[in-house]
Amino acid sequence: MQHLKGKIAVITGGNSGIGKATACLFAKEGAQVIITGRRQDIVDQAATEIGHGAIGVVGDVAELNHHKELADMVKTKFGCLDIYMANAGVINLTASGNVTSEDYDRHFATNTRGVFFGVQALAPLIRDGGNIIVTSSLAATKVLPDHTVYAGSKAAVAAFARNWAIEFKPRKIRVNILSPGPVETAILGKLGVSEADRPEFENYMASLIPAGRMGQPDELARAALFLASDAGSFVNGIELHVDGGMTLA
Ligand code: NAD
Repeated sequence: MQHLKGKIAVITGGNSGIGKATACLFAKEGAQVIITGRRQDIVDQAATEIGHGAIGVVGDVAELNHHKELADMVKTKFGCLDIYMANAGVINLTASGNVTSEDYDRHFATNTRGVFFGVQALAPLIRDGGNIIVTSSLAATKVLPDHTVYAGSKAAVAAFARNWAIEFKPRKIRVNILSPGPVETAILGKLGVSEADRPEFENYMASLIPAGRMGQPDELARAALFLASDAGSFVNGIELHVDGGMTLA
């Protein structure tokens, strides 16, 4: 049985990591998937790998026009939408004393403003009974070294999502927060940890996780499927921690 048969799903940052794994799973489950990313070649390659007629759209979530153009495309091609996953994100770990205003703005333009204006542009197309998933982070609730700016940008989107769960009540649109712990994706290469220090870093992260290891993108994709499908039909406004228990550790 396909759990998303006939559904139309947009996944920002769907050309890599958690977003791509989710796009693959949603497509296998019968959804028409539309992924976004910043680079044409990577988006095209990902859409081909996802298959099932997946469509790739290039754009920067920090640009308001991108959301408007994406909404126009979805409206013209499909008329409506069922699932919007605001997943694109960036990270750069820096102690607060060293954060530049450019770095601060980049986190908030992508992780926070990109989510807000994406939902503002796409939510009007979501059919009654559809749903929104916002990818936040364990860092939004747990203090981790040098995560302050990233944590703030991710805590804000969790707050947006809780408010939207109430705002969209008249249209019965569920809004939930997917909160990953450390997951093996390309984003880990952007943490400022050198290749040489990477094994030590990964061992250290694993030691903090009760599951004893980092997560895999597929494990987040399955959680997203739960939230997006009828399996999660009575789940609304929650923060789903998919982190091997790290929130508690
Ligand atoms: P990733 O680097 O593989 O994916 C990030 C995606 O976001 C990429 O597709 C990238 O193209 C896209 N992106 C970044 N900036 C963009 C912009 N300005 N416009 C459009 N697209 C943009 O990393 P991932 O781990 O799959 O990250 C997915 C989400 O999960 C992010 O929001 C991230 O903050 C969050 N997250 C990841 C982890 C982890 O350990 N991997 C932990 C907690 C939260």
